[in-house]
Amino acid sequence: MTDKTTGSPWTLAHRAARMNPSIIREILKVTEQPGVLSMAGGLPSPDTFPIEAMREASAKVLTDSPREALQYAASEGYGPLREWVAATLNAQGQQVTPDRVLITTGSQQALDLIAKVLVDAGAPVAVETPTYLGALQAFAPFEPLFTSVASDDQGPIPDAIRALPHDAPGTRFLYVLPNFQNPTGRVMGEARRQAVVAAAQAARVPLVEDNPYGDLWFDQAPAAPLAARWPEGTVYMGSFSKVLAPGLRLGYVVSPAALTPKLLQAKQAADLHTPSFNQRMVFEVIRNGFLDQHIPTIRARYKTQRDTMAQALTEHMPAGTEWAAPQGGMFFWLRLPAGCNAMALLPKAVAAGVAFVPGEPFYAHAPDTRTMRLSFVTLTPDEIRYAVATLGGVLKKHLFE
Ligand code: PMP
Repeated sequence: MTDKTTGSPWTLAHRAARMNPSIIREILKVTEQPGVLSMAGGLPSPDTFPIEAMREASAKVLTDSPREALQYAASEGYGPLREWVAATLNAQGQQVTPDRVLITTGSQQALDLIAKVLVDAGAPVAVETPTYLGALQAFAPFEPLFTSVASDDQGPIPDAIRALPHDAPGTRFLYVLPNFQNPTGRVMGEARRQAVVAAAQAARVPLVEDNPYGDLWFDQAPAAPLAARWPEGTVYMGSFSKVLAPGLRLGYVVSPAALTPKLLQAKQAADLHTPSFNQRMVFEVIRNGFLDQHIPTIRARYKTQRDTMAQALTEHMPAGTEWAAPQGGMFFWLRLPAGCNAMALLPKAVAAGVAFVPGEPFYAHAPDTRTMRLSFVTLTPDEIRYAVATLGGVLKKHLFE
């Protein structure tokens, strides 16, 4: 819109109007005040970053292949890393060839590229209820018509998938997080996976499967991915952010042959390629089975923190608060007693020295204002106990005021 009053020469694109400041980032600014114990962030614990292994790998890359590591490189990504991704996914039940693997600058970039390639203005895009806020933000500038698929404690309900618009041109895709979903922590069981894929096939709605948390299971590895069941109808995304370090910005997308060239062209136009140095450094770290020892240490740490938070919630939350202890990942999802509004509660919690993320921004439509997300991975067990006790106190005071 041209601003006549200030005489600004700039006219914003429609899509810019669809870009909103991340509510979470705004909330994090408030919650990152000194003295606030924050359960709000979506950050992995920095205590899990394998700093020494990265130091050694950096030195090795700069010694063995400095010219290649510092030069422009192929848009597809570093060949040996693509082969590693394919081999790792195949060991988990998929059938992936390296030529279908595109290395991306975080899996967040994959969300942008997928929307760029698949979404026209006004096209239906289906999401879970609730869903990952960052995906809503990545898709929104392409002006989709979001459909919120009714979901329960295992994810999208198959009958609701069957009911999606599928007359041509139909729903472009269903975006789905089967493992330890952000924000709810829920996981899809084997039967639900089968039913979701069957419903999606029947409705001719392809799947975009996002799996940054799948390795972070506590007692039992999750069932095989949706992509293993319907490879030609599923785009699959993974990330090194939660098993190595998010600052590397390293993720990947595996696509069926029909989409691979288009995603590659979109990637090329977006940033030419993901940093060569990071790709080579990470490959150097993981090439000899490093993650097989490293990931179990993350699981053990997060499981202890999960247990601590579960216990603290049981002790301190008022009657009528609902939650289920997550079987992996980083988050608890709470539903507060009737009459509570999580957004309105946040300033009171911050004033008392604790923070959480209200659930509202994770809904494409009709938010449940009683919900909130709590991360358990960046606080120590003592801090978790104290933070949950404080939150419980704020909530009880609010309820009985
Ligand atoms: N998908 C989901 C569900 C996430 O929670 C995140 C990180 N918060 C991402 C994608 C993006 O991860 P990254 O870009 O770091 O790979």
